[in-house]
Amino acid sequence: HLSNAALMARRHAAVARGVGQTHEIFVSRASNAEVWDVEGRRYVDFAGGIAVLNTGHCHPQISAAVKAQVDLYSHTCFQVLAYEPYVELAERLNALAPGNFTKKSIFLSTGAEAVENAVKVARAYTRRPGVIAFTGGYHGRTMMTLGLTGKVAPYKLGFGPFPGEVFHALYPNALHGVSVDDALHSVELLFKNDIEPERVAAFILEPVQGEGGFYVAPHDFVAGLRALADRYGILLIADEVQTGAGRTGTWFACEQWPVAPDLITTAKSMAGGFPISGLVGRAEVMDAPAPGGLGGTYAGSPIGCAAALAVLEVFEAEQLLARSRTLGERLTAGLRGIAASEPAIGDVRGLGAMVAIELFEGGDLARPDAALTRNVVAEAARRGLILLSCGTYGNVIRVLVPLTASDLLVDEGLSILAASFAALR
Ligand code: PMP
Repeated sequence: HLSNAALMARRHAAVARGVGQTHEIFVSRASNAEVWDVEGRRYVDFAGGIAVLNTGHCHPQISAAVKAQVDLYSHTCFQVLAYEPYVELAERLNALAPGNFTKKSIFLSTGAEAVENAVKVARAYTRRPGVIAFTGGYHGRTMMTLGLTGKVAPYKLGFGPFPGEVFHALYPNALHGVSVDDALHSVELLFKNDIEPERVAAFILEPVQGEGGFYVAPHDFVAGLRALADRYGILLIADEVQTGAGRTGTWFACEQWPVAPDLITTAKSMAGGFPISGLVGRAEVMDAPAPGGLGGTYAGSPIGCAAALAVLEVFEAEQLLARSRTLGERLTAGLRGIAASEPAIGDVRGLGAMVAIELFEGGDLARPDAALTRNVVAEAARRGLILLSCGTYGNVIRVLVPLTASDLLVDEGLSILAASFAALR
């Protein structure tokens, strides 16, 4: 019979070590917010495959849509023979994206590809090379997206050089001493020291940093960036690969901004576990590249489009945007409850159901506690809860439980988390 240990041994012998793995667990099946491993153990899933499962594992309506699509046609390549689900998905996302202007969309396969295409489109439209990203940001594992990512280890180690004309300004982070003024000033410093604004094509930021630690971009920061963008003809790109598809209480997190971005990337939960990503934005910007300049063999696959359209239906039928907000309140209240008796938890924060806690030695904000974070994640797994950490300092535990999870299951996960902290005291 299969065991996790035996499969781990085969994995280590057959798979390159550069592909990391949080838990030494092999899955056998999954349903909504629960997973069973090959030894028959059950887990509550607070990881959601890294923000991919807002609609849960194996949602019956999404599985049915995919099965129906597979029986009709699974691949033609949209650039060879087109199909309606791609166009319908574009129409739906164009209508959902904020901003009082006409929008157009394209579809790709991964989040990194969506970001790559955002940069391509921004450069084609502005005819400028520069891109300004932010400290602690994460944008993917391809060369350009690694260049944009604002954290060296482990992502960039040994992989350079990265594309040029990429610069990093400070992402505001009140908890770690970076104010909105500091962050906006750091952009001005880039204009002074590194690249004149007339050569910058775009700013790219996450409305809530995902891998970086679930830090929410303050509205006055976003408004400040928009003002700089308007002054110098720079585009504003919202990377919503992790924040999008309803995680933060609105379909796109940037719907809550006081200003609209020009381009939005989306992936992960938009198709409930099937690989598709998208770029939606200002029509004249999206139309800048000439025919043939954008696309890909599998880009916007019929299966991904069918899954994404089913996800949109499920969001409406099950009112998952409202659920995202109430789930966020439940998680925040539950985590605050745990924090009341755990001095190490120095912060509970988030937007909608994108919620995290940050751990410090003895609660001292100058001493991030990555070791305790690792221990809590491991202890919780032993007790049947799958968690993910994140953060520039590796000291953040993030919750990405499916929005479709019942209150009962969410509470079960929270009590396992509380017990894990208690066991480590
Ligand atoms: N941007 C953000 C904000 C992300 O969180 C991620 C993935 N964690 C990516 C881009 C890259 O997406 P993918 O792994 O699908 O390439």
